Amino acid sequence: SGRMPANGGHLFFSPDMNQVDQERQLLATALKSAIARKQLRLHYQPQIWLKDGRLYGVEALARWRDPILGDVSPAKFITLAEEIGEIEAIGRWSLREACRQMAEWRADAVPIPVVSVNLSPINFYNSNLPEFIAGLLKEYRLPAACLTVEITEGVMMNQRPETEKVICAVRDLGVGLSMDDFGTGYSSLSRLAHLPMTELKIDQSFMQDFQEGSKTKAIATTVVRIGQSLRQTVVAEGVETEMQKQQLQALQCNIAQGFLYSRALKAADLVAWVNGQW
Ligand code: C2E
Ligand code: MG
Ligand code: MG
Ligand code: MG
Repeated sequence: SGRMPANGGHLFFSPDMNQVDQERQLLATALKSAIARKQLRLHYQPQIWLKDGRLYGVEALARWRDPILGDVSPAKFITLAEEIGEIEAIGRWSLREACRQMAEWRADAVPIPVVSVNLSPINFYNSNLPEFIAGLLKEYRLPAACLTVEITEGVMMNQRPETEKVICAVRDLGVGLSMDDFGTGYSSLSRLAHLPMTELKIDQSFMQDFQEGSKTKAIATTVVRIGQSLRQTVVAEGVETEMQKQQLQALQCNIAQGFLYSRALKAADLVAWVNGQW
């Protein structure tokens, strides 16, 4: 498609580069170009109240379809973006795009209460983050309660007190704070108690063997209890079966998200889904 690499037309190939390095370089160049040309998209996955089946909110998930490379998974391009210094740009873009979309839904009276945006731990190293989010809420005239930011446990590995200050300042805006993929990373229960989280997301790996008496079920049960004790909203991700849903209901887990309800949808399809369902 005649795409020019972002660095003025030169790819950093050298004879001693192996194939893995070359592919990585190609991907990095394509990603930088996609960010600069605003070719990333957000898709939205519904999150459902287990007690009554109503819509709790949606999680915004980044999507990248390159004309040559095809669909690249976020697991791949987010990790790469963190390594090549592009995650700052992606964080700002996804926050802005989610806020813009939320303002549009509100103007159209589409009943979507909250949008959840994934941020990388690196996004919290920037002390301007709270100010940036405050600016977006003002620009798009959004109540802070319309926005939640999801952080992974990686953020807890960082012992710098500045990171904690940034997290607290974001919460002080009234924005929700969700601990994503809980139970998989470098958990520290003391830091979890310390941070002003409003939501706890049980990682989808705990849904894999969700049978009565299984070890994963025992752990999932404990995580739900931890969230309840801390008065956080507990969200189960990766809910695929009716059986998992019923087990989570029995545990009094608050929210479920997963293919049982819907995969992540582009905004127009999500609105159709919301209108068809409710
Ligand atoms: P995550 O935040 O834990 O998101 C949940 C992932 O599980 C999503 O994968 C979603 O599509 C997938 N999923 C949802 N329901 C089910 C289900 O029932 N079964 C299974 N097997 N999977 C399900 P996705 O979209 O590929 O995203 C992967 C990860 O990439 C996300 O995990 C998140 O950590 C990261 N990510 C995505 N978008 C962004 C972004 O804009 N910024 C940052 N920093 N990270 C992002
Ligand atoms: Mg997430
Ligand atoms: Mg997650
Ligand atoms: Mg996950």
